[in-house]
Amino acid sequence: MNLSDSQAYAAFRDTMRRFASDKVAPYAAAVDREKRPPIEAFEASLALGLPGLPYPESLGGQDGDMLSQCIMIEELSRVCASTALTVSSCWILMAVMDYGTEAQQREIVPQITRGEARCAWGLTEPKGGSDLMGATTRAVRDGSGWVLDGTKRFITNGGWAEWYLIFARTTEKRFGLFLVHKNDPGVSFGAPERKMGMRGSPTSDVILDAVKLPADRLLGDPERGAEYITQALLRSRLHIASHALGIAAGALEETLRYTGEREQFGKPIARFQMVRSMVADMAIRVESARATLHRAVSLYQAGDPQAKMLASIAKVLCSDAAMAVTTDAVQLHGGYGYLEDYAVERMMRDAKVTQIWEGTNQIQRLMIAKDVYDVPA
Ligand SMILES: Cc1cc2nc3c(=O)[nH]c(=O)nc-3n(C[C@H](O)[C@H](O)[C@H](O)COP(=O)(O)OP(=O)(O)OC[C@H]3O[C@@H](n4cnc5c(N)ncnc54)[C@H](O)[C@@H]3O)c2cc1C
Repeated sequence: MNLSDSQAYAAFRDTMRRFASDKVAPYAAAVDREKRPPIEAFEASLALGLPGLPYPESLGGQDGDMLSQCIMIEELSRVCASTALTVSSCWILMAVMDYGTEAQQREIVPQITRGEARCAWGLTEPKGGSDLMGATTRAVRDGSGWVLDGTKRFITNGGWAEWYLIFARTTEKRFGLFLVHKNDPGVSFGAPERKMGMRGSPTSDVILDAVKLPADRLLGDPERGAEYITQALLRSRLHIASHALGIAAGALEETLRYTGEREQFGKPIARFQMVRSMVADMAIRVESARATLHRAVSLYQAGDPQAKMLASIAKVLCSDAAMAVTTDAVQLHGGYGYLEDYAVERMMRDAKVTQIWEGTNQIQRLMIAKDVYDVPA
């Protein structure tokens, strides 16, 4: 797919919106209620090649650029944040395209694009997520290969994914990235976490107990994992911002519909000034978050170093928008907003984690401040 002009992006957004409404929305409440992966929507996404969107066509992907990736995530998240997360998790192993050997790419990527393998990454540990460089999972050389020991916590797709990108300490101060398969001896999983939201996305510990890996499971240089993961986090920050933006946009849409239909004092509540003012604020948050996100995406696509700071700003704006807009959406649904029967209840629960994961919003602010100070006024 070559999306080179805005018309093509608009057409792609339309396709994604139709797909979301026909194939994703019908299962959104059920996967949340039943706390199970969105299998039907995931399988339907394969027919459009979405798990392979960013991968090269030569390996079964679609060569979709960052803007198309963000549009897909936003449109799916509007109706089901768990499905958007499940499909976009398949893109974690783009790190193999960046740092892997051709043999690694040829072995792993087609499994993903054909829908035979799902992906996860393990950065966070029981003792911390914010202090990534404090990770204690170890990778020790064993002949030409490696042995991994440690526990990764809160891993999206834990137990459900086939491939895990694991961040592990290889020397006192350096880290490497390793490709661990679900069936590797010594790999096990904790019980599924019982979560506030994102209930259609499994989360669990990934436990590595003397996991022996051959040399070809190391990605790139064993001492440059921190640099690689920083780059991978930049990409995923744009994805996560799009995910939060989609939740906010979906909640706004639900609110427009509901306030137009619900009547009090003999007229639709959409006619009351205070309601209109809240809806205007919701729209301001959604539109300004999207504008910032798209600026970050265009800087990223241009290879501009400012993309890093803008990606953090977009992550904060989009996730804060998701939390504020979904909370107001529940408010504007009155008592019905508090019931599971209305999508905004799920959206508000799903929104919260977007402020927490992929570097909490406090950590993003620390990074933004550092970048602001680094740029001469
Ligand atoms: C549903 C879910 C899915 C997840 N999926 C994954 C995954 O797939 N892979 C993965 O590796 N991780 C995953 N995570 C983990 C997530 O990235 C971490 O929870 C997050 O980075 C925060 O780490 P922590 O929970 O250890 O909190 P902590 O780091 O302990 O932070 C606790 C609080 O202290 C604040 N804080 C910490 N340090 C500072 C500081 N220097 N200045 C100011 N405030 C600070 C934080 O902002 C936060 O509010 C997931 C988490 C959840 C909930």
